[in-house]
Amino acid sequence: MTIGKLIDGKAFAAGLRDKVANGVAGFVQATGRKPGLAVVLVGEDPASSVYVRSKGKMTVAAGMESFEFKRPDSIGEDDLLDLIEELNQDERVDGILVQLPLPRHIDEAAVIGAIDPAKDVDGFHVVNAGRLATGQEALVPCTPMGCIMLLKDELGDLSGLEAVVIGRSNIVGKPMAALLLAESCTVTIAHSRTHDLASVVHRADIVVAAVGRPEMVRGEWIKPGATVIDVGINRVADIEEEGKSRIVGDVATAEALAHVRAITPVPGGVGPMTIAVLLRNTLVAAHARAGLAKPEGL
Ligand code: NDP
Repeated sequence: MTIGKLIDGKAFAAGLRDKVANGVAGFVQATGRKPGLAVVLVGEDPASSVYVRSKGKMTVAAGMESFEFKRPDSIGEDDLLDLIEELNQDERVDGILVQLPLPRHIDEAAVIGAIDPAKDVDGFHVVNAGRLATGQEALVPCTPMGCIMLLKDELGDLSGLEAVVIGRSNIVGKPMAALLLAESCTVTIAHSRTHDLASVVHRADIVVAAVGRPEMVRGEWIKPGATVIDVGINRVADIEEEGKSRIVGDVATAEALAHVRAITPVPGGVGPMTIAVLLRNTLVAAHARAGLAKPEGL
């Protein structure tokens, strides 16, 4: 039995961060200032806090300026919108990221819609979503952008390949499908109402699973030789050690390895790409705002 390859997202992300750091050095030389990323964190959610801290560290490590704005859960929507407007106006800030989810009393769409699309490094603003959908230059959501980079690195030209994306969220599924279409794949988007998901997945040369259900995609669903990108991050109880938990993806990786050409592991696949692409998007936004051409190789 042949065994597929595990795609090393950690190493690819490290390489991308190095390229970003080189690009940052060039930007500083050209403009006399560092690109800046502002991250807004509302509330005390421990997972979000860890994520924001690690974004800050990596931003600084890439040679950029990191600005953190922590606000209490009780902040009103108007105050948050005022902060976004301040950051829109701040010349030192090239990228604005509002850590989601926001508390229930705040309208997420209103907050995202208030970000200057030129600084929308998460790519969630409707202007960037619309640009991506219509094939124009856009800031693209970081996770699907990371997935397409891994796919192109593994497969080269994706043109004509049959791709199935499972999940239709605005953050992953929809932009992922748009990126695959832009690469001339034949794209199907599957979701919770899809009939006979196993057969739909079995057609695909490329499977992207962004569902949030532990190991839902089984090995035998996968067409032999397909490439699988597992976006899912699911915490499950560890059966070997009582009281412990572990992280698994949306695909049963061990089973899938017998069928795939290549698959991203969880953890260590797509996850590390997200922050690396965030840094890349910030550098790209900084170049555009400074009227400079997009940095080469990014
Ligand atoms: P959402 O919950 O927003 O979307 C999940 C999608 O999966 C929905 O479109 C839903 O369909 C679909 N779905 C749910 N159940 C099924 C099913 N049984 N069969 C087929 N489709 C189903 O999640 P996100 O897109 O935000 O995230 C998806 C996963 O990716 C999560 O595990 C998340 O943690 C992870 N993630 C990882 C990131 C990373 O950096 N690696 C970044 C972002 C997310 P419907 O629309 O019909 O409800």
